Amino acid sequence: MKTGETENRFLSEEEDRWLGKMVREAMRQRPSAPPGSECPDPVIIRKLAFHENIDPPTAKTALLHMAECYECSQLALRYVDEYREQKR
Ligand SMILES: [Zn+2]
Repeated sequence: MKTGETENRFLSEEEDRWLGKMVREAMRQRPSAPPGSECPDPVIIRKLAFHENIDPPTAKTALLHMAECYECSQLALRYVDEYREQKR
């Protein structure tokens, strides 16, 4: 049974883990962005990392992009670290 606790968060704990894993995978596999893939606004990446509420389609697009883009995944990791630091 699930509690309702995670429903208030933009990313559930599981999604958060998934994001981290995906980003690490991306970093291992692809040294650079695939051609034709447009990088999302860094503001969006930051919001994702900070669990701020953003448009779900926008979030999905950004997440999928990050899985393929080294630069964006690096940026996401930096923001995630920043977020964790702030929570301390
Ligand atoms: Zn990118």
